[in-house]
Amino acid sequence: MAEFLIIGADAAGLSAALQIKRKKSRSDLKVLAKGRIISYGACGIPYVLSGDIASAGSLVHFTPESFREKADIPVETGREAVGLYPETHEVEVKDLDSGRVYREAYGRLLIATGAVPRRLPILEYGQTGIFTLHTVEDLTAALAFIHETNPRRAAVIGAGNVGLELVEALHRRGMSLVVVDILAEAAANWPQLVRRAVLDKLREKRVDFRPGTAVESAERRGKEFILKAGSGEIPADIIFSQAGTRPATDWCRDKLRTLPNGALLIDAACRTSNEDIFAAGDCASVFHKVLGAPAHIPLGSTANKLGRLAGINMAGGRLEFPGVVGTQIFKFFELSLARTGLSSEDALRAGLEARAVSAKAKDKAGYFPGAADAEVEIVFEPGTGRVLGAAAVCSGNAAQFIDPAAAAVTAGLTVRDLAWFDAAYAPPFATVWNALVSAAFRAAGF
Ligand SMILES: Cc1cc2nc3c(=O)[nH]c(=O)nc-3n(C[C@H](O)[C@H](O)[C@H](O)COP(=O)(O)OP(=O)(O)OC[C@H]3O[C@@H](n4cnc5c(N)ncnc54)[C@H](O)[C@@H]3O)c2cc1C
Repeated sequence: MAEFLIIGADAAGLSAALQIKRKKSRSDLKVLAKGRIISYGACGIPYVLSGDIASAGSLVHFTPESFREKADIPVETGREAVGLYPETHEVEVKDLDSGRVYREAYGRLLIATGAVPRRLPILEYGQTGIFTLHTVEDLTAALAFIHETNPRRAAVIGAGNVGLELVEALHRRGMSLVVVDILAEAAANWPQLVRRAVLDKLREKRVDFRPGTAVESAERRGKEFILKAGSGEIPADIIFSQAGTRPATDWCRDKLRTLPNGALLIDAACRTSNEDIFAAGDCASVFHKVLGAPAHIPLGSTANKLGRLAGINMAGGRLEFPGVVGTQIFKFFELSLARTGLSSEDALRAGLEARAVSAKAKDKAGYFPGAADAEVEIVFEPGTGRVLGAAAVCSGNAAQFIDPAAAAVTAGLTVRDLAWFDAAYAPPFATVWNALVSAAFRAAGF
């Protein structure tokens, strides 16, 4: 029996493993993973596709061998967890090489199986030329296809932030693009400021974007695919399906409490509804501080932190995670687009009264070479002035504005606090009246 068993060998699983080893160096600890490649930065996938990063191998931090060498922790790959038996403290595992199914006993278990891409029933995913980029293996297969066939026309299904990152990458490879999304807008789950900027950029880059369009079928005709979507036919040489993800918990969700989408419900210590089973990362819920409720926000930032916290607690620690505020950022061509906390629409859905105020400024002194445009919107409670959220769009780095806003949301600060906060200033880096401060001034009515 493994005293500590971890299922999943990426951000959450390996962060936990390192902490367990640090706190209990003599413990019997084992990591199992379905995938052959462990410890990789999926967030870098679009930038290998675009050519900014030379090879997919650069995204991999550790192999099972180098991880064992560094941390003295065994990682067995090609092992898929297929069943959970909390009553006997066992996980049913399938050896993907031999097909053998066996049980692995644990003292304490961490589920860190991440998320799996949503599959559209009308697409044959095994077929050459149809890809979903989620893992390094997916990326390697897509790059091999691109090198072999030199596709010129790409269809991307799904215009969420990851789909949009791929759109940029393919555009920079010189492909013509059709992007379809069943939702009415690109980046539909993002604040309006971001959605508007994305739409403008799609138009500027002459990307054929078809919102509110469901893909009905995909047919191979000779060397090309014909996608039937809405009333039209879309010919394409390569198809990317990026229709979002869902928690990879099919194998265990009937034994533990979950959110409706299957994300394992965890408490502030990362414990599931079973005392000896912890969960962290994309397979688990996370407490949303502003909503005051568990949510599913699958992000590498959270997976790393909660994996670390879960490992510390599994090894006897008593850390509590205070929660996230939904801070995210992505790049789309020249723009960085970021959000934190609630948008006006989120606030409305949560039954909170909210107002939004925005401001524009340069991201550094206007006379300084390379000064870029920035726009920030703050969402706040009209009565108290409490900052509920913010969005930022910048042709420089929007994190410069969203991170202080995230700190304000986390700390429950008001727009008055944010208006006067002591931000750094020198011409090459920032302005005194930056877009965040200016929006806060307006919101505060100064
Ligand atoms: C293209 C792309 C871009 C992204 N960009 C960003 C970004 O910019 N910022 C950001 O914060 N996040 C980003 N993300 C999300 C981020 O990569 C994930 O949030 C993060 O990888 C989650 O880590 P995890 O450890 O929870 O799960 P994963 O990284 O998904 O790892 C899951 C592990 O579990 C294993 N596994 C799965 N099922 C089983 C099973 N049944 N049995 C055994 N093992 C199993 C897998 O083999 C793997 O080892 C991006 C993701 C993608 C795909």
